[in-house]
Amino acid sequence: MIDNNRLRIAVQKSGRLCEGSMELLKAIGVKLSIRDRLLIAHSTNLPVDLLRVRDDDIPGLVMDGVVDLGFIGENELEEKMLERKAADKQHQYDVLERLDFGGCRLSIAVPNEMQYQGMASLNGKKIATTYPYLLERYFREQKIDAKAVMLNGSVEVAPRAGLADAICDLVSTGATLEANGLEEKEVIFRSKAVLIQRRGEMPQPKQQLIDKLLTRINGVMQAKE
Ligand code: ATP
Ligand code: ZN
Repeated sequence: MIDNNRLRIAVQKSGRLCEGSMELLKAIGVKLSIRDRLLIAHSTNLPVDLLRVRDDDIPGLVMDGVVDLGFIGENELEEKMLERKAADKQHQYDVLERLDFGGCRLSIAVPNEMQYQGMASLNGKKIATTYPYLLERYFREQKIDAKAVMLNGSVEVAPRAGLADAICDLVSTGATLEANGLEEKEVIFRSKAVLIQRRGEMPQPKQQLIDKLLTRINGVMQAKE
């Protein structure tokens, strides 16, 4: 059952943001009993419900006001914001805190054998990516006439498969790029996990709880510095 008096927080169910989000919730005293299959987890000590979803769904849940807070990577957040803005959907939110996990960069990488002499080498080319809005914004800023080809998976094999000339994908160590004969050339976006809040009216008790949790997050982050 959905209870509007409880604070609703969206987190990634499993994946790279999951551990950091759950550890932080634990560190700020939100006790949870998680049953693996379930979408919703209730806190046992605070009026907090956790919605465990795919990270792709989190920006929309917050922007539509379906949940109060969400833990999300800035890359996914910014991409979905641009997509929703283009579609004339609600795309507002507030960032409460930039967090110290989920760090990665969105980069353009080209096949080793490509003669790359800067961004101009990409003119007229097709670039495979899961982030077409971020990539096309970058092309516009750099005045490059290239095309983003949307792929939800296997982006790094697109050049070898003849689907694109280069790629734009998330990188942390670069090992995946290297394994696929690709070289990182341009960083177009640097990302970390953030905690975001929906816009709109918030009942006072809920806002007080958010403020309290935020104070604790700041404390936890300062203690780590
Ligand atoms: P889901 O099943 O929830 O859709 P996913 O496969 O889209 O998962 P993950 O690979 O778990 O997502 O990545 C989630 C987020 O983690 C990314 O959007 C990014 O913000 C962050 N991240 C941090 N490091 C990396 C990395 N090396 N590669 C990809 N994402 C990273
Ligand atoms: Zn995802």
